[in-house]
Amino acid sequence: MPRENLNPFVIAQSYFQQAAERLKLDDGMRAILSTPKRALTVSIPVRMDGGSYKVFVGHRVVHNMSRGPAKGGIRFHPDVTLDEVKALASWMTWKCACLDLPFGGGKGGVAVDPHALSLNERERLTRRYTSEILPLIGPDQDIPAPDVYTDPQIMAWIMDTYSMTKGTTSLGVVTGKPLALGGSRGRDKATARGVQFVLREACAARKMSLKGARVAIQGYGNAGSHMATLLHAEGARVVAVSDSRGGVQNARGLDPAQLQAHKAKGQSLKTFPGGTSITNKQLLELPVDILVPAALENQITANNAPRIRAKIVAEAANGPTTPLADDVLFKRGRTVIPDILANAGGVTVSYFEWVQDFSSFFWDEDEVDRRLEVYMKRAYTSVAATAAKHQCSLRGGAYVLAVDRVAEATRVRGIFP
Ligand code: GLU
Repeated sequence: MPRENLNPFVIAQSYFQQAAERLKLDDGMRAILSTPKRALTVSIPVRMDGGSYKVFVGHRVVHNMSRGPAKGGIRFHPDVTLDEVKALASWMTWKCACLDLPFGGGKGGVAVDPHALSLNERERLTRRYTSEILPLIGPDQDIPAPDVYTDPQIMAWIMDTYSMTKGTTSLGVVTGKPLALGGSRGRDKATARGVQFVLREACAARKMSLKGARVAIQGYGNAGSHMATLLHAEGARVVAVSDSRGGVQNARGLDPAQLQAHKAKGQSLKTFPGGTSITNKQLLELPVDILVPAALENQITANNAPRIRAKIVAEAANGPTTPLADDVLFKRGRTVIPDILANAGGVTVSYFEWVQDFSSFFWDEDEVDRRLEVYMKRAYTSVAATAAKHQCSLRGGAYVLAVDRVAEATRVRGIFP
């Protein structure tokens, strides 16, 4: 078997090129759409609580702004690299276009293990990073949000640092903020809600019921943990879950409330007493109906794709499936709901938050949910229709839809000067 190139930017480009091919884009347009617009790498010196100093490296990449200001999260993770952030930024461009949000794509990342920092160290790191990327961000320029290992408190510090520097209170500079600071109701579980909405569509298309379906969820952060709760409430059977250290399975089903209580004690899910412990790799290959990768990139590769047993893979994570694996799953008749569609509920409610901040008028949670459902269903329908037209997977359809929208915006704007 050929060795796969697992560089996320190479992978992102390969998905983009497939769509460019289907759309017959010329070389010039391909070059414009595949090259990030801006990339800034910064050093972040942090005074540690003990008095010593450490320097961390961070990035902020704006991939494209043709359809509006750049939008995308900030990740704190030890494995962050510039190429990863570039890939994630381009996925945000396609995701926002797929959902027809008036945004381009961006992403930020700091190579750090935030769990190894105290709260005060995390605050100093966040504020210094924000200050370093300040020339790029702004409510009509580039709007960050949470991603892996960042949360509403970190967004509050970003908003405050930006606002103190500008001398005005700017709520719309960042989304995923606490409710007390212009956050949106429903933003915390928006990614999971979005996955749930498109899963309902995919189940209907396969004449499967979500009720009673066996589900495995890899990753127990914001997306994974809310997925477990929402799908359990809908009558699905959550038979396996995992976090970065490992997981647990029980064919009779796991109770998300008990899993949450176990996590709240600082314990890994692999030590949860209500089942058998498994590795993250084993979780992916369990006999389930629905698999939800909700952690990091490159989990489903050419290596394990032939052994994935789920009928539907719903990508709550960004980039969990490699192009070779994607082909294998398509040929094996599996439905993969691609990341740029499946996990777009997060950025869609970020868009709602930005709109609410601008209008200084805040919606109730039912309204957020109702509007999110409209956006997710409409996107699913358009993606499925595009896939049918091109006789390709949902991922192929999602990319064609998204790339076509950004190409069209680029064409009508023209190239300056
Ligand atoms: N980090 C999330 C994503 O990858 C949300 C981005 C946002 O809300 O801007 O889609």
